[in-house]
Amino acid sequence: MLNLFGVRMLENIEKYAKENNIPIMQKEGIEFLIEFIKKNKIKKILEIGTAIGYSAIKMALVDDDIEIISIERDKERYIEAVRNVNLFNLQNRIKLINQDAFDVELTDKFDLIFIDAAKAQSIKFFTKFEKNLNDNKFIITDNINFHGLVNSNENMSRNLKQLIKKIKNYIEFLKENNQYITTFHDIGDGISVSVKR
Ligand code: SAH
Ligand code: MG
Repeated sequence: MLNLFGVRMLENIEKYAKENNIPIMQKEGIEFLIEFIKKNKIKKILEIGTAIGYSAIKMALVDDDIEIISIERDKERYIEAVRNVNLFNLQNRIKLINQDAFDVELTDKFDLIFIDAAKAQSIKFFTKFEKNLNDNKFIITDNINFHGLVNSNENMSRNLKQLIKKIKNYIEFLKENNQYITTFHDIGDGISVSVKR
């Protein structure tokens, strides 16, 4: 499906992300996400946290009738994402929004909401956008292990401790939320999959 040009372009994005410390999804994580989208025939996706468009492009390439809305608050990253999406000629299927997700109001309904933004805010993203989820569909969250720190006793700065605490709270929130069934996957940086009952 992807020609040599496309493969090269993806490698360039990966390289750019590495050089500029942009936390795009890890290889295993993105592979898991792509397989999930295929297996569950997901067509409408909302992504919170575009960065430079890497995961959005990878998801859009799964199938020609997938449509994505992706939100990024950082101007520079958004501009880079627009550039990348255009290079893949995916601008008709990936709609990029340069705003803080908390300021975005959507009426669309999605088959998948992919939360990959500020890690301390996952509960808030979840509760803000769950009204946009179709029944029996999915909310997936990345970085649920946060570099393994969620299950470690390492010495950490105060800020980092607080962040880890918030991720743990999110995990508890998911476990206790009986409107969804959530499974946790030790893949990439840790991924949770919540299915709406
Ligand atoms: N999904 C991307 C990586 C996203 S990195 C990929 O795998 O390719 C997380 C991004 O979320 C950062 O670029 C950050 O600027 C953005 N972000 C964090 N909080 C946000 C918010 N409240 N609204 C919109 N974007 C946010
Ligand atoms: Mg991530």
